[in-house]
Amino acid sequence: EPGIVVVGAGQAGFQVAASLREGGYRGPLAMVGDEPALPYQRPPLSKAYLAGKTDAEGLALRPATFFADHDIARHAASPAAAIDRDQRRLHLAGGASLPYAHLVLATGARNRPLPVPGADLAGVHQLRGLADADGLKAALAEGPRIVVVGAGFIGLEFAAVAAGRGLAVTVVEAADRPMARAVSADTAAFFRGAQEAMGVRFAFAAGVTEILGREGRVRAVALADGRELDADLVVIGIGVVPNAELAAAAGLPAADGVRVDAFLATPDPAISALGDCARFPSPYAHGLPGDGTVRIESVQNAIDQGRCLAARLTGKPAAYTALPWFWSDQGPHKLQIAGLSAPGDMAVIRGEGSAFSVFRFRDGHLRAVESVNRAGDHMIARRLITAGIPLTPDQAADPGLDLKTLAL
Ligand code: FAD
Repeated sequence: EPGIVVVGAGQAGFQVAASLREGGYRGPLAMVGDEPALPYQRPPLSKAYLAGKTDAEGLALRPATFFADHDIARHAASPAAAIDRDQRRLHLAGGASLPYAHLVLATGARNRPLPVPGADLAGVHQLRGLADADGLKAALAEGPRIVVVGAGFIGLEFAAVAAGRGLAVTVVEAADRPMARAVSADTAAFFRGAQEAMGVRFAFAAGVTEILGREGRVRAVALADGRELDADLVVIGIGVVPNAELAAAAGLPAADGVRVDAFLATPDPAISALGDCARFPSPYAHGLPGDGTVRIESVQNAIDQGRCLAARLTGKPAAYTALPWFWSDQGPHKLQIAGLSAPGDMAVIRGEGSAFSVFRFRDGHLRAVESVNRAGDHMIARRLITAGIPLTPDQAADPGLDLKTLAL
């Protein structure tokens, strides 16, 4: 009897499977994943795991017994190769195929490759999965000079861990500040300073033209301005591309993510998609550039979409409207973001020093809040934005106003 087949055994795939059982789904349930490990958390890969503060077992979302106890069939290290929508069968690369009544695409994203000569030299790493993290951990012992390409969240988290070990880290970034697409200039400036205080050096407005090697191993990174940065190890962190090819090859719309509606459904009623691979309409995209759809790479999004989709598949359909939120740990500093911002949003600062929040307004409404070492603000911000509680820029900046009283 065909049941529900989930492709991708990451955060979102795991969540939809677990929530289906929790929601009373009793039919056949299978997870098809291309990695060998039990479904695990990725955030610690660039934080506690890389720093040696937790092991692989500590990353697992559930122990193996959970899947047996909940009758979830795990097909691990078993990439899905094609979807036959007419026959409703998922073909695996190994040759087997699984029938489905409903197919869930939770294939995540993969790192964007750096399109320069030398990117395939030994000593050039990326960080997406457990295997990458293990390779990188071992490589940290290979030499003291590290170049990170890309000052996004993962590059900066890695830089903080490596600098904390006393390694010489230079971060090369095409924009003029870190996390340029994701946070305000104020938050970016704070993290630049914080990273520099940890010993990290930056090269901003810098383009990598080539990775130079010697006997097949990296020795330096060449920049467009002629500089060469010596490197024993290079880590590329320039963003991701969604794994949407499976959907596209099956004729589903999949431009920059598998296209789904507010219910996470593709145009094929037997196929849904969620998590990092999915592009969906968000009520929080109001006033953002684009067509009102977003693709969000976060644990919150994977978990909340997993719950939303499982609810629909167990007879309780609801549009996905959860507020996006996110965190990043860099050395001793914690950044938390609630909502979605755009580079042009107005920025109002509350707090000072190394504990502050930046309230972002767009079209006169509070749209996002970046909190740096101010967890209280983050929780209140989530409530204010979700409930649409009016807040003016003056109120946001007023230290005498207790925001909690508004959020009640
Ligand atoms: P994934 O977790 O990537 O899972 C997708 C799975 O599908 C993968 O195992 C993939 O290999 C598999 N797959 C792909 N194609 C196929 C196929 N054809 N057949 C079978 N399997 C397939 N988010 C935060 O909110 N906070 C953080 O601090 C944070 N830190 C991060 C640090 C790192 C190093 C990384 C990599 C990510 C981090 N994220 C963080 C992002 C977060 O981990 C992702 O948003 C989340 O994992 C998305 O879940 P997902 O299930 O959509 O994708």
